[in-house]
Amino acid sequence: MTHIWLKVYLGIGSNLGNRRRNVEKSLNLLKAEKEIRIKKQSSLYETKPVGGPKQRAFKNGVVLIETTLSVKSLLNVLKNIENKLGRKKDAKRWGPRIIDLDILAYDRVVFKSKLLTVPHPMMHERFFVLAPFAEIAPRFKHPLLNKTVKKLLSELESK
Ligand code: AMP
Repeated sequence: MTHIWLKVYLGIGSNLGNRRRNVEKSLNLLKAEKEIRIKKQSSLYETKPVGGPKQRAFKNGVVLIETTLSVKSLLNVLKNIENKLGRKKDAKRWGPRIIDLDILAYDRVVFKSKLLTVPHPMMHERFFVLAPFAEIAPRFKHPLLNKTVKKLLSELESK
C-alpha cells in the first residue's frame, strides 16, 4: 500500500523555561517520528499572553509537516510530546506551558469532535498564528473561510 503524505500545519508555543530550546526539543521529537517529516519552519514570534493569569510572553511559531498519520493519531503524538517535555496534565487552560502543540490545519480537512477541531477554531483570530503561518504558507487557503492566510492576516491587522 502506498502511503499518502498529507500537508499539515502545526502551531508551537512555549512560555516556561528556555522557550526556544523547548520548541527545538519538540521539533526533534517530531522529526524522530517515522510518519512525520518536517518541511518548513517559521521564525519564532514573541507574543504577549492572552487571558489567564499574569505570565511570561510566549515564543510562537508554525511548522509545515508531511505525515501519513490520521488526524487523531497525530493529536496523540503531539500530546505524547507535550507530556515528554514535562507539560503538566492538569495545567490551567490559559496558564503557562512548557510546550503547546496545536493542529492548525490538516490538509484541507474539516473535522469536529469532542477532542479535536480542525482547522483550529481560533487560528484566524490570532496574530501569533497568522504571522508565522504567512511566513511559510501565505497562499494556503483556510478550508472553511476560503481565504488565504495572507488575506486573513491583513484583515486581522486592519481590525
Ligand atoms: P490547549 O490547552 O489549548 O492545549 O488544549 C488542549 C486540548 O484541545 C487537546 O487535548 C485537544 O483535545 C483539544 N483540541 C481541539 N482541537 C485541537 C487542535 N486542532 N489541535 C490541538 N488540540 C486540539
